[in-house]
Amino acid sequence: MTKVIYPGSFDPVTKGHLDIIKRSSKIMEQVTVAVLENPRKIATYSIEERVKMLKMVTEPYPNVTVDYYKGLLIEYAQNNNINIVIKGLRAMSDFEFVFQMALVNQKLSPSMETLFMMTNNKYSFLSSSIVKEIACLGGDIRSLVPPEVHNIIIAKYQS
Ligand code: ADP
Repeated sequence: MTKVIYPGSFDPVTKGHLDIIKRSSKIMEQVTVAVLENPRKIATYSIEERVKMLKMVTEPYPNVTVDYYKGLLIEYAQNNNINIVIKGLRAMSDFEFVFQMALVNQKLSPSMETLFMMTNNKYSFLSSSIVKEIACLGGDIRSLVPPEVHNIIIAKYQS
């Protein structure tokens, strides 16, 4: 069975993330979307909020599950018998860091493979930070995030 893990901060989930999830679920038997704490980023949404949003948007895909883990990606993957990581690639600027992480994971766990999935060009500019920046300035983010989670995302910026 081809099981993959799609890790990220998903702070919050965007249409770009969902596109990668949908496309992976078509070619892999089981996709685990894992919310991992990124020590280099201060999160806007709690882990619970991020997991809840991901569960809402992945409901139509029966072979996609959502989980979270506070620790090393390879540790989580090993505990769950997963040895393929999916990473999205938007631009060359993503490449260097993702490449480095893939090599580190391979060093720590030689059986771990990383597959890169090209962004859909509709979403190549899209990131969670862009969504937050626009939402914070009162802009319309409807075209950037899945409709089911739009209200949860903007609620942070309305008070
Ligand atoms: P991290 O903080 O770990 O980079 P993100 O939530 O920003 O997590 O992204 C998770 C994964 O989704 C990464 O592999 C990233 O490259 C990918 N990704 C993010 N936005 C897009 C997009 N618009 N198109 C394709 N891949 C994307």
